[in-house]
Amino acid sequence: MYINLSGLNILVTGASRGIGKALATKLAEAGATIAVHYNKNVREAENLAHILGNESKAFQADFSKPDEAAKLFERVTLEMGSIEIVINNAGLAKPASVDAKDDEWMKAWNETMMVNLNSAAIICKKAVQHFVSRKAAGRIINIASRAAFRGEEAEYISYAASKAGLVSLTRSIARSYGKEGVKAFVIAPGFVRTDMSQEFMQQYGEDHAKGDLALERLTEPKDIAPLVTFIASGMADHATGATFDINAGSYLH
Ligand code: NAP
Repeated sequence: MYINLSGLNILVTGASRGIGKALATKLAEAGATIAVHYNKNVREAENLAHILGNESKAFQADFSKPDEAAKLFERVTLEMGSIEIVINNAGLAKPASVDAKDDEWMKAWNETMMVNLNSAAIICKKAVQHFVSRKAAGRIINIASRAAFRGEEAEYISYAASKAGLVSLTRSIARSYGKEGVKAFVIAPGFVRTDMSQEFMQQYGEDHAKGDLALERLTEPKDIAPLVTFIASGMADHATGATFDINAGSYLH
């Protein structure tokens, strides 16, 4: 099957490394123009935008700060003219022990919510308005986590809660705006070999991550990208509101 995304502008948040970089790469291979969002890794993002071609560009925004996500969306639409697909992928997993001081625990909680949920939410809001006002089909693909459904280790409570919020947000958009052409999907990865999971595995060991897989190896970013590209193509539109689990069969244990 040949997927042609040429003529589509796709905002991929957190595209400077890890899963986001793999998504941006696969989507550009299919012809899309990518708004490569990054926070700190400017060189990686600019290099990637250059390699992707198709007039892709890098855009900076720190999602831990209020207003930056909304301003990012506005800058991308201004520079690219329109956005047809949004992929909310940027995220962080910030551990906080229940024995930490309350204000420190809340600081980690608030930052996690700000980056993983609040910023994704305002981007979704702006995207829905953008799609509906243009009377054009639009797709939102939110990268949540298996943790949204089965919780996470105690230090990562805020991470799991933020991802559960993202799932509910996505379903509400799918229910509310489908008749106006807006489709919304959740991708729920299990462990994926990236910087983020590296920190977790340093703490708990790689065997902890691999222990409940049905497959022989840990999922890699390249294992996520083909399904996201397929969803971006519109061929999965009647699955709007659905969650796609990509966790190497770890739900089966
Ligand atoms: P990663 O390698 O740690 O990359 C995180 C990305 O998010 C980077 O591009 C980073 O930008 C961006 N980011 C981090 N903090 C940010 C902030 N304050 N403002 C704006 N952008 C920020 O992570 P990943 O493993 O690829 O994860 C991608 C997504 O998949 C996340 O939503 C994550 O929760 C989800 N996920 C990952 C796993 C896993 O095991 N890896 C499992 C389930 C779900 P810079 O590098 O430019 O700073």
